[in-house]
Amino acid sequence: MYIRTCLRFTLLEDFCQMSNMVLVPQEDCSFGLHLLLFIVLALLVDPISAGAGNEWDYGGDIGPDHWYKTYPQCAGDNQSPVSIDTTLVVYDEALKGLQLDGYNSVSAVNMSLTNNGHTVQVDLQGQSLTIQGGALPGVYKAAQFHFHWGAENKRGSEHNLDDQNFPMEMHIVHYKDDYANIKEAMVNDKGLMVLGFFFKVGRHNRHFDDILGHFNEITHKDDHVNIPTIPLRKLMANNLDLYYRYRGSLTTPPCYESVIWTVFREPIEISQFQVEQFRNKVKKNYPDEPDLDLTDDFRPVQPLNHRIIYGSHIDTLMPYRSHGENGAGHAQLPFYLLLLSVCISLFV
Ligand SMILES: [Zn+2]
Repeated sequence: MYIRTCLRFTLLEDFCQMSNMVLVPQEDCSFGLHLLLFIVLALLVDPISAGAGNEWDYGGDIGPDHWYKTYPQCAGDNQSPVSIDTTLVVYDEALKGLQLDGYNSVSAVNMSLTNNGHTVQVDLQGQSLTIQGGALPGVYKAAQFHFHWGAENKRGSEHNLDDQNFPMEMHIVHYKDDYANIKEAMVNDKGLMVLGFFFKVGRHNRHFDDILGHFNEITHKDDHVNIPTIPLRKLMANNLDLYYRYRGSLTTPPCYESVIWTVFREPIEISQFQVEQFRNKVKKNYPDEPDLDLTDDFRPVQPLNHRIIYGSHIDTLMPYRSHGENGAGHAQLPFYLLLLSVCISLFV
C-alpha cells in the first residue's frame, strides 16, 4: 500500500508539473496533494470496516463473490454449500448406519474454543473421535467443529433443504486417518468429511451451555480459552439415520474440493436466547478496533452442476416441512381423512 501510495503521489506531482506549465497554479496542486493524502489515509483505514483486517469476509469487497480472485478453487464446479432439493435426491441403500467411536467420551478429549474472526470454533485434541461406515472410503477423525449463523432466524445455515433456510448450521470437520493432519488431508481427494447439522429455534439445549458460557472470554478475533469437554454426541441431532451425501468443498477459502459432505435432515434444537448469544457476544475484529458483530457468516449456495445428492433412507426423499417433521406430519393425514369423512356424512 505504501509503495502504491508513493507511486500515486509521483504520478500526481508529474501531472501537476505538467499542468503548471500550462494552466494550473501551484497552490491548486498543493491542495490536490492534501486532498489525495486524505483520501489515501481514508482508504487505509477503510479495510477495518470492510472486514476487520481479514483477508476474506462474508460481504463487501472481500465477500464470497470475490474469493476466487485470491483463491481460484472457490470458482470450481464442485463447491459447497448447495441447496438440497428432495425431489432430486437419489436413495442409496449403501448409506447405512454411520459408526461413531469416542463421541461420548470426555475423559481423554480436550476442547479449546477460539474466535478466529470468521466463526467460533472448538478444536479437539487428545483421544481420537472416529467415524466410519455409511459408505465412507475409510476412517475419519474429528478435528474441530464450528458454526455458521444469521442475524435473523430466517437465514444463517449454509445448506438449505427444499429452499428452507435455518438460523444456524454446525460443521464437524473430520480428516481421513491416512493423513497426518487436517492440512495435509484437505488438499487430497476425499481427504475431509464434514458432518453438517441444521438448527431450529425451540427449547433450551443445555448441552451448548458449556460453549455459550465462555463467549465472554472470546469476544474478539484470536481470543481462545480451554473449555470443559462436552461429549460430542450430545451436541448432535438425535437421528443420525437420515442424511444427505454429496461431494463438495470447504465453504470458506481456500474452498478445496476435497470434502465428502454428510448433512443430516433432523435439526438440532436450540433456544432463541442461545441463538442470540452467537449474534451478540462475539466480534470479528481485534480488541483495539471498532466492534463489528460476527454474524451472517455463511456462504451463499453454489451451483450443483453435474452432482447428485444421495439420501440414506426413503424418508430423505420426502419434501421437508419445518413444522411436521418427526412424526407430526404423518399424524396430520388421519385428521384430514376424519374431516373428509365427517363432511361426506353431513352432505350425503
Ligand atoms: Zn463450516
